[in-house]
Amino acid sequence: MDALKERIMTDGVIIGDSVIKVDSFLNHQMDIAFLKKVAAEFAERFKGEKVDKILTIEASGIGIAALTSLYFNDVPVVFAKKHSASNLSDDVYETRVYSFTKQKENIIRVDKRYISAGENVLIIDDFLACGSAAMGLGEIVKMAGAKVVGIGAVIEKGFQGGHEKLVEKGYRVESLAIIKEIKDGKLVFA
Ligand code: 5GP
Repeated sequence: MDALKERIMTDGVIIGDSVIKVDSFLNHQMDIAFLKKVAAEFAERFKGEKVDKILTIEASGIGIAALTSLYFNDVPVVFAKKHSASNLSDDVYETRVYSFTKQKENIIRVDKRYISAGENVLIIDDFLACGSAAMGLGEIVKMAGAKVVGIGAVIEKGFQGGHEKLVEKGYRVESLAIIKEIKDGKLVFA
């Protein structure tokens, strides 16, 4: 998606050699008019797929997943939680996910009531890096006896290998902007 690549070039801030901050339009302040176009692009990529539910992970996937739902007949959006809390039921699907940005393992959980056997689930997230978050979400869908119709990432860091791992598992992956490498402090798109 060319407009997205341009926006990342203009607003993206490179941290170290592999982390990209897009806080001005996606991860802190959200540019809704722009992100509606991003969500519409997910709808275009996955058109023809039956989607009963969208699954993401807190916190930064929630906004884009909610906007994407608008283009899929307002299907429910479920987000996996990273923290256990007294208001979360004990009856959960859970799995371990390694967080690349925080360099630690999280247990992510989804209440069993919110994904049911036979449902078609579209996984949406802001970034795809090593693929751990998407893989964990896919495992949860499988535990529920539901089906992953696809995985959509707004930004993929192609040099971190997540895409290949997910495709090897049989998932369809659609990333709207793929960063091939960071060279001399600059983003190089695929
Ligand atoms: P993965 O599990 O694919 O390694 O990483 C994806 C998750 O980590 C996403 O949910 C995203 O929130 C976070 N993430 C990974 N890389 C980046 C990055 O460069 N920038 C930001 N803002 N988040 C990232």
